Amino acid sequence: MANIGSMVLQMLKNEISEVDYTRYIKQIHFNEEESKSNSVVFTAPNPLIANWIRTKYADKISHLFEIKTGVKPSVSINVKTINPTSSNQSATVLPVHTDKIPQTLLNPSYTFDNFVVGGSNNFAYVAAKNVSEKPGIVYNPLFIYGGVGLGKTHLMQAVGNVMLAQGKTVIYTSVEQFLNDFMRHLTNKTMDRFKDKYRKCDVLLIDDIQFLSNKNQIQEEFFHTFDALRNENKQIIITSDKHPKKIAGLEERLKSRFEWGLVADIQPPELETKIEIIKKKCEINRVKLDKEVINYIATIIENNTREIEGILSKLNAYSQLMGVDINIEFTRNVLKEQMAEKRQNITIDTIVEIVSKELNVKSTEIRSKSRNSGIVYARRIAIYLSRNLTPNSMPQLAHYFGMKDHTAVSHTMKKIQEIMKNDEDFKIKVEELSNKISSLTSE
Ligand code: ADP
Ligand code: MG
Repeated sequence: MANIGSMVLQMLKNEISEVDYTRYIKQIHFNEEESKSNSVVFTAPNPLIANWIRTKYADKISHLFEIKTGVKPSVSINVKTINPTSSNQSATVLPVHTDKIPQTLLNPSYTFDNFVVGGSNNFAYVAAKNVSEKPGIVYNPLFIYGGVGLGKTHLMQAVGNVMLAQGKTVIYTSVEQFLNDFMRHLTNKTMDRFKDKYRKCDVLLIDDIQFLSNKNQIQEEFFHTFDALRNENKQIIITSDKHPKKIAGLEERLKSRFEWGLVADIQPPELETKIEIIKKKCEINRVKLDKEVINYIATIIENNTREIEGILSKLNAYSQLMGVDINIEFTRNVLKEQMAEKRQNITIDTIVEIVSKELNVKSTEIRSKSRNSGIVYARRIAIYLSRNLTPNSMPQLAHYFGMKDHTAVSHTMKKIQEIMKNDEDFKIKVEELSNKISSLTSE
């Protein structure tokens, strides 16, 4: 078991938000002496961290052990006792019931029901749903691509979970795992078993295929696996961060095969979809948030949906620590540092550039005297944001935007505040822009 615990935690790091990793996972240690292949033990510094990991990550940790070792262990998180001699009586040892499902590498919460469908992911969702209804027939392979945290793994595993429930053999693997498995069987001279495993399954899910890039030997092996499965009408689902054509260092014959079935992209979620995803995650993680808080979080997060769980865990941990409910003030406070850091270095130019891009007008138009309603709308928002996000005075803003004097700026500020009060959608849109500007300039 030599240090497999830290390897697993390292793998988990790639799966979760940085906040969650630093706040929780980094704080726990693998207890090698007490761990066995079917029951692993970690030590946490306090009950808060232990609890959070138990409810949120025990399943995932167990799942990652299974990927590494082939055995799905129960996971215990002990709380470190202050007296080192009494470590055997460490508090709250709660094994998690993870041994019921045999040999599954799928996250059980990645289901179609838990997937929020919106314009950005509808195409990929429908494709995956069709595949789950007619595996090996409709689209083979199904190739899903898109940016980090947009739900590719979730969708692919949703198909896997459907298949699994029907008693089919599902293999979920990363390129790294496929490669390791291959090397191990090669060294042990058990390639027959390797071939059996990957060519006899009903469904092969291979995640983040872009990592095949420039790995020639494994590309060769994957090529044969692919053909063997496809000839037997076994379903293959592949994800990637880019379109097959754009993966550098990938053999042409693989690229073309990846396009044989259906290539579906996932785009960054729209605001409404983000809101629905947050609601869904609250439901799953049993976190209670009101509408205002949810809308606020939706405007803060960038496109990577993984941030949501990080934010929820942060809010939850703070509210538990302080024994208060999560309301909007509390949320703003907790997430304040995150926002404050982003506020530096913002210029009016940046604001105008982003507003014009987002609202589809030219930046020169924003600074012009045009009375076109779309342009006036964008100009007002740009002024409002410049006043709030930069240290410029009203006369400076009037000068920049070619307005008569500071009263015109002040009038615009009042106008925007009034609309925001009466129009929730507008308010969210402005907040979203504001947060986008803040986050872009922090990089
Ligand atoms: P990717 O594989 O594209 O990097 P993941 O599938 O790992 O992204 O998704 C990151 C997180 O966001 C997961 O917790 C996933 O459940 C969640 N998520 C992403 N998109 C959606 C969605 N449309 N509905 C519900 N949850 C989502
Ligand atoms: Mg993924």
